[in-house]
Amino acid sequence: MNCELLNKNYALLPESYLFSEIARKIAAFQEKHPEREIIRLGIGDVTRPLVPAVIEAMHRAVGEMADPATFRGYGPEPGYPFLREAVAAAEYGSRNIDIGPDEIFVSDGSKCDVANIQELFSADCSVAIPDPVYPVYLDSNVMAGRGGRLMPDGRYGKIHYMACGENNGFQPNLPPRGTALIYLCSPNNPTGTVLSRATLEKLVAFALDTGAVILFDAAYADYIRDDRLVHTIYEIPGAKKCAVEFHSFSKSAGFTGVRCAFTVIPREMETLRRMWLRRQSTKFNGVNYIVQRAAEAVYTPAGREQTRDVISGYMRNAGVIREGLRKAGYTVFGGEHAPYIWWRLPDGVKSQAFFDFLLEKCAVVGTPGSGFGPEGEGFFRLTAFGDPAKTREAVSRIAEMPAFPA
Ligand SMILES: *Cc1c(COP(=O)(O)O)cnc(C)c1O
Repeated sequence: MNCELLNKNYALLPESYLFSEIARKIAAFQEKHPEREIIRLGIGDVTRPLVPAVIEAMHRAVGEMADPATFRGYGPEPGYPFLREAVAAAEYGSRNIDIGPDEIFVSDGSKCDVANIQELFSADCSVAIPDPVYPVYLDSNVMAGRGGRLMPDGRYGKIHYMACGENNGFQPNLPPRGTALIYLCSPNNPTGTVLSRATLEKLVAFALDTGAVILFDAAYADYIRDDRLVHTIYEIPGAKKCAVEFHSFSKSAGFTGVRCAFTVIPREMETLRRMWLRRQSTKFNGVNYIVQRAAEAVYTPAGREQTRDVISGYMRNAGVIREGLRKAGYTVFGGEHAPYIWWRLPDGVKSQAFFDFLLEKCAVVGTPGSGFGPEGEGFFRLTAFGDPAKTREAVSRIAEMPAFPA
C-alpha cells in the first residue's frame, strides 16, 4: 500500500496510550500484589443491568421477530415512529417544548452522532470545544482536518479551547467571533458540572448573532437532580434556530452495550435537518427493532420509575465520594447532577503521577484529568458507576491516604 494515499490528519492524533498505559499499570499492580483488592472508580460505563420493563419489551420484540406476521426487516433509517413519538412526548412535550418526531433521529449511539455531525459542515470551518471534555468532539474534527498544527503543549493550532475551570465556575467564555461549531457537554464528562441557564443564554445569543451552530451533548441530562437546571438546550429561547442536541440511552438507561441514542435537529434548521436525513439514509441503516422497542419501554411508567431508581443508586455513590473526599479535606467538583467527581489535586501534582500514587497506596483506580484536555491537568476523575459497598471502601481508603509527596 502507498501510504501517501492515507488521510494524513490521522497522523496528527496522538496514540491514545493514556488509557492503554492505565490498563497495563493496573495489570502490573495486580500481578505484584495479588492479595490487594483493586477498586475501579475509573470506569465511564454503567454496571447495573437493564431494568425489567426494558427486558420485557425486548423479549416481546424478539417474539415478534419469530413470527412471519410480525417479523421486521429494514426499518426507517431515522427510527420507527413509535420511538420518535415517545421521545418527542417524554423528553420535550412534557417540558412544553415543541419538538416533533420528524426532528428526532434515532441512532445506535451518541458517540457516532457527535463524531459524524461535523461532516455536514465545511471542511475549513472553525471549531470551539470545552476544555476539559469528552475527547470525541476534538478527535473527530482533527480527523476531518480542522485541527491545524499539533503544538508542543498538546493543543491544536486551529481549535479554540474554551477553558472550564474553577476560576470561571466551569462556565466557558464566549468563543471568538467567526467560530462556526460550538460543542457543549452538560452535565459535563469529566467535570460533572452543569452549564448554567445564563451561560447557555449567552452562547445561544452568540450563535444567533454570528450564525454559529451549537452541538449540545446531553448524555447525562437524566442525572440532573434539580428541575430548575437546564435539561435540554431547547429550554433556551432561540435555541431551535441554532442548536443540535444529542441524547443517549447509554447512561440514562444502561444501554452502553445495547446501543441506542437520538439526535434532534429542529425544523428551524431545515437545511441541516435534511442533510442529516440524507446522510443517515446513505450511511446508516437504522437501529434494530428489538432495541427500539427496548428504548420505547424506558418511557413507560414502569420504565421511568425503574431507570430513575438505578440513576438514584449511582447518585448515592456520587454523594458518598463527594462528601467523603470533602470530609477528608479535598476539594471536589461535580457529583451533584452527574455521575462524575472532579477532584482537584494539590498544587503542582500531575494527574498521571497521582494515578500511580492512588493505585499504590489505596489500590483505587481513577482517571487522570489530563486525558480530557490540557485544562484537565491537576485534576482526577472518579466515577459513581461502581458497586456501592466498594465505593464506600474506596472512599475510606482515600481518607486514610498519606499526603502526596510534592
Ligand atoms: C457516554 C457518553 C456518550 C454516549 O455515547 P453512546 O455512543 O451513546 O454510548 C456521549 N457523550 C458523552 C459525553 C458520554 O460520556
